[in-house]
Amino acid sequence: MNLKDLENFSNNASGKVLFDYNLNKSNWFNIGGKTKVFFKPEKLNELVDFLKLFNNRGKIFVLGAGSNILFKDDIFDGVVIKLGKNFSNLSILNKEIIIAGSGAQDKTLSKFASENSLSGFEFLSCIPGTVGGGIRMNSGCFNREFKDIILSVQAVDTSGNVITVSRDKINFSYRKCDLNNNLIFLSASLKGKKEDKKKIEKEMILLKSKKDKTQPTKIKTGGSTFKNPIDQTNKKVWELIKSSVPLDTRFGDAIISEKHCNFFINKDKASCSDMKKLINFVQKKVFDTTGIRLSLEIILVE
Ligand SMILES: Cc1cc2nc3c(=O)[nH]c(=O)nc-3n(C[C@H](O)[C@H](O)[C@H](O)COP(=O)(O)OP(=O)(O)OC[C@H]3O[C@@H](n4cnc5c(N)ncnc54)[C@H](O)[C@@H]3O)c2cc1C
Repeated sequence: MNLKDLENFSNNASGKVLFDYNLNKSNWFNIGGKTKVFFKPEKLNELVDFLKLFNNRGKIFVLGAGSNILFKDDIFDGVVIKLGKNFSNLSILNKEIIIAGSGAQDKTLSKFASENSLSGFEFLSCIPGTVGGGIRMNSGCFNREFKDIILSVQAVDTSGNVITVSRDKINFSYRKCDLNNNLIFLSASLKGKKEDKKKIEKEMILLKSKKDKTQPTKIKTGGSTFKNPIDQTNKKVWELIKSSVPLDTRFGDAIISEKHCNFFINKDKASCSDMKKLINFVQKKVFDTTGIRLSLEIILVE
């Protein structure tokens, strides 16, 4: 990539291009080295211009709230794009449809839906990600997932073409969707159902308290480390880990949560290498004990 071109672009753009940007404060684990280039666009036309200038001459990673990713310790040799606040707008299209910017927090969207007496978004009050990350991961809890509310997704590809994809063209499955990896999601149309506001608020409080009882909060984690191996067993992944691994296992500051053993925690200064050692150790122990090969839910960005 031509850094001079990107520097010139940066001087004339409202969204800044930063070089050798430290990633460890931009994700929930607080882990990771630097990225060669970090771009936070504030306008769609600037994002498109940037992509055209960059012209697919290197790796691009799109960062949401960083609640499901693990960055490596050394430099990410590419561009990390994080959508600026202008990509977080929420608006009501008609009485049942919300248009949500991809940068919007799931919790903010859930609150917005409740303020507008729309149900179907309550589960999002328990997920610490953004709409963009939620679409990519088909995130969900309490038997609800993004796939249940999406009508269409607007995106730009890494060549700068803006497209709209309707729900019937997207295959969602457990913690994934088949939208091309070269797409940066811009916004989504989401459908809810008119409901009494008090009822929605009550449901949100109930879900939140259920979640807080079983999962740790306010810690440096990426949430569930592994997916539930639904095609191999009815057992939950935490049950497999609990019966196979000493729960006080640690590598440096990478530890297993006491509250939920599928949540791994950076206690203080864990590196990606420490976390990967813990991941590999747990994967091997579970395999040796149960014959089940766990696959990662968190995404390793390399
Ligand atoms: C405490 C805690 C609790 C959690 N609980 C749950 C839960 O109950 N259910 C659940 O499903 N998950 C849960 N998670 C995991 C995580 O919050 C979700 O996967 C979330 O949707 C990720 O969103 P994000 O914005 O943080 O994405 P990131 O972690 O930043 O990125 C995740 C993926 O999405 C892609 N992505 C992000 N934004 C865009 C975009 N605009 N366009 C294209 N791709 C994009 C990234 O490239 C990456 O591949 C939890 C995590 C934590 C830390």
